Amino acid sequence: MTRFVIIGGSDAGISAALRARELAPGCEVTLIVADRFPNFSICGIPYFLSGEVARADDLAHRKAADIEAQGIRLLLEHRATGLDPQARLVEVQRPDGGRDRLPYDTLLLGTGAVSIRPSLPGADLPGVFPLRWMGDTLSLAAFLEEHRPRNALIIGGGYIGMEMAEALTHRGLEVTVVEAMPSVMTTLDPDLGGRVAAELTRHGVEVLTGTRIEAIEPDGDGLAVHGSGGLRRRADLVLTVIGARPETSLGAAAGVETGIAGAFKVTRRMETNLPAVYAAGDCVETWHRVTGTHTYLPLGTTSHKQGRIAGENAVGGTREFQGSVGTQSVRLFDLVVARAGLHDADARAAGLSPLSVDSEHWDHKVYYPGARRMLIRITGERDTGRLLGAQIIGAYGTEVSKRVDIVAAALHQDMRVEDLNDLDLSYTPPLSSPWDPVQMAAQAWVQHWRQGEGRGV
Ligand SMILES: Cc1cc2nc3c(=O)[nH]c(=O)nc-3n(C[C@H](O)[C@H](O)[C@H](O)COP(=O)(O)OP(=O)(O)OC[C@H]3O[C@@H](n4cnc5c(N)ncnc54)[C@H](O)[C@@H]3O)c2cc1C
Repeated sequence: MTRFVIIGGSDAGISAALRARELAPGCEVTLIVADRFPNFSICGIPYFLSGEVARADDLAHRKAADIEAQGIRLLLEHRATGLDPQARLVEVQRPDGGRDRLPYDTLLLGTGAVSIRPSLPGADLPGVFPLRWMGDTLSLAAFLEEHRPRNALIIGGGYIGMEMAEALTHRGLEVTVVEAMPSVMTTLDPDLGGRVAAELTRHGVEVLTGTRIEAIEPDGDGLAVHGSGGLRRRADLVLTVIGARPETSLGAAAGVETGIAGAFKVTRRMETNLPAVYAAGDCVETWHRVTGTHTYLPLGTTSHKQGRIAGENAVGGTREFQGSVGTQSVRLFDLVVARAGLHDADARAAGLSPLSVDSEHWDHKVYYPGARRMLIRITGERDTGRLLGAQIIGAYGTEVSKRVDIVAAALHQDMRVEDLNDLDLSYTPPLSSPWDPVQMAAQAWVQHWRQGEGRGV
């Protein structure tokens, strides 16, 4: 009977545990989780903090009892502190401080990522919060309840900073977002980041780009925040969301090789360089299907897939991760932005020659009430017409995220832009057009490409 030990009880770890039990019901699966929140949807944290999700417990994908009902042994508030790959033992610290040594036949490192803390004077003052774990979330929720802050300053204009700007605005706080780069949401082209910033501004959020926070200090019962260009703001609450780095200390100390961004190097079977040791999720490099190279792209979607594959292989399977195409969507107030694949800068960095074409389309037939325009930017390869990616921006309710998923599926199949027009997509006037907006955008791209490059069909 295989003893499969998993360190980490979030997306990767749980997916691996469930898959292993599904395929090999006789295997003994033990899940070691540092906190008491196994299988929580940390992606839902902004919606609990906004007040839209009533209780923190509602964020659990599954309760501990549901996990145990699958025959998985759950060691909550147990921290893995050491790994002996020769003896195949994991050292674990129990909640009472005592230590155990757990033997394994196969092991998964699903230790995820940790928030990057800014190295600023005052970054650890009371009232300054990181946001990653349920523990952070409950501390912040308690602060919001007890201190009733009137305003907040968010350091970091990535998608978590943007979602939290909306969440805290929803809760009635005045919010300032400060981003060091020239635009927010740098996963998008800068002009699309500008549209996101405009949407936040329209809802009363102050968005400052090209500004670096330099220090935080106590100021009466709040905080004074100082930044480049003479910025000074008083804030009752400061949130630091400047990114995450892979949590690899345990594995690296035992000899697991690391690479991009310090993440574990893995094969497409999610194997590390150590025998019988797999790794998956935010702690590993991700194979990118469009570029054919590794990158660091920590996402819940990817973590679930990699975990499932590692779980299968840990009990004798031979499955390979089919790669990420970098699909992501975010809703901010009334706007949804989504992307899949590469934009121009990514494509050039990968040595490709991209052509991006914008076009605007109604989300459904304009004669049916409520039609709204969406911008679709298709990126294809100049030489071959191969689809490289898309960015879409449109109103909430116009199915932007599902439209980018069409592009994601096409990228997965390595299709050309023109091939999008062959897809049999659904149509009814209140929802789309005989040509879906993605197909009309593909036609706009192909027309531009043919004219610009003097090509035939
Ligand atoms: C606010 C927020 C919003 C997000 N929104 C989205 C979204 O909308 N879409 C999306 O795709 N992704 C989103 N993400 C990213 C997504 O949540 C992560 O990619 C995903 O949680 C990674 O899963 P994981 O299992 O690799 O690791 P993690 O979720 O980082 O979990 C790691 C686990 O390892 C445990 N652990 C670590 N070290 C030890 C140790 N030594 N011993 C025992 N246990 C240990 C931890 O307790 C935890 O259980 C969001 C993230 C955040 C923070």
